[in-house]
Amino acid sequence: MTKIEQVQQWIGENNADLAIISDPETIDYLTGFYSDPIERVLMLIIFKHQDPFIFAPALEVEAIKDTGWTNPVYGYLDHENPWNMIHDRIQEREVDVKEIAIEKGNLNVARFEEYRRILPASNFSLDLTPMIQKMKLIKSDDEIEKLKIAGQWADFAFEKGFEAVKVGRSEQEVVAELQYALMQKGIMQMSFETLVQAGAHAAEPHGATSTNKIENNELVLFDLGTVWDGYISDASRTIAVGTPTDKQMDIYKVCLEAQLAAQDYAKPGITAEELDKVARDIIEKAGYGEYFIHRLGHGMGMSEHEFPSIMEGNQMILQPGMCFSIEPGIYIPGVAGVRIEDCVHITENGNEPFTHTSKELQYFG
Ligand code: MN
Ligand code: MN
Repeated sequence: MTKIEQVQQWIGENNADLAIISDPETIDYLTGFYSDPIERVLMLIIFKHQDPFIFAPALEVEAIKDTGWTNPVYGYLDHENPWNMIHDRIQEREVDVKEIAIEKGNLNVARFEEYRRILPASNFSLDLTPMIQKMKLIKSDDEIEKLKIAGQWADFAFEKGFEAVKVGRSEQEVVAELQYALMQKGIMQMSFETLVQAGAHAAEPHGATSTNKIENNELVLFDLGTVWDGYISDASRTIAVGTPTDKQMDIYKVCLEAQLAAQDYAKPGITAEELDKVARDIIEKAGYGEYFIHRLGHGMGMSEHEFPSIMEGNQMILQPGMCFSIEPGIYIPGVAGVRIEDCVHITENGNEPFTHTSKELQYFG
């Protein structure tokens, strides 16, 4: 069964008539076509018993056909009203449109008001988002192959990034070097903004790469990922410049122990929360529990915002094909931030990481 057929089956089971897909990532997942239309309208309409259609900006129509999409695709020009045209295309099908499933996780109020305006007699209570999230949970061999290649490019980026680390260089310069090296190899897209944070700056886990200069005797945190054919990588390493303090070395040692223990433990049949606890217990026992301020990991695939979430309270049982990060971190304000992250996929009897850069503390600069 194709992915679209699975959605059609779900539409039937839930007594809906059609689904409006608006998240570009979902459209990519279901059709193989990706474009971020920004403020323009890109939609995939899936009917219970009829062929789906894509509604897109006219300038995207040829690219959609080039992906091998054989169902109808309708384009609109910038001066045309896309909503009225979508209405007409749905009316043409002469189907009942009482119950419409929408992606509640990807819809703003202005667009929802347009849905209600063009289809005033329809109900929009059914949410497709959880179903799509569930579909994405188990990756196929083909998807895992793409994640592996994205991982290989992340390893390459670490190698180039570490080489670029020098005392006196800014975090931003290091990012520029590693991304330039990737671009020379044809890897044009990162999966998120590359993070290089030196010294105490790394204690802000959601901070950004800055103009701060790398100093001697500190730790430098890297968090990066590339995109390969729609699939991402996401990995973190922390390296040393000069001689870190005993405290910094201790934080690193504990974080590494937690990461390795969790990665060793990840296998089918355990729950997500058990895995989080394996790493958290080690960090807590070492006295750093209050500085591990996020979940152990997140699902990933086409983005780093998928399931399963590796955290307390999630009793989801891990199964082969699930892909997620294992990324303990210890962030002590004013001292240092350490995070070590690999994404893995669950195999029949364990797991396999997508990235292989050494996790022993490495010295550069
Ligand atoms: Mn990361
Ligand atoms: Mn991550």
